[in-house]
Amino acid sequence: MNEQVEQLSCQELVELVTDYLEGALPEEARLRFEDHIGRCGACKIYLEQMRQTIVVLGHLPEAALSPDAERELLQAFRGWRSG
Ligand SMILES: [Zn+2]
Repeated sequence: MNEQVEQLSCQELVELVTDYLEGALPEEARLRFEDHIGRCGACKIYLEQMRQTIVVLGHLPEAALSPDAERELLQAFRGWRSG
């Protein structure tokens, strides 16, 4: 037995981020998502990066962490920053 409350891990948050940004997350999951974001700086940054990704790419990446998506993302950021 442990006292673990149902909290999102960072990994789970990453998996939910596209649904969150699409507004497809159920209320309960959304609240847990935002609770995690409020306590986890790394995930907050990740969420912001995903938001920027949508702005840059014009759509959500198919798979958030696939190597291709990540490469595309990094290139887009580079162009966007220096642009
Ligand atoms: Zn986190």
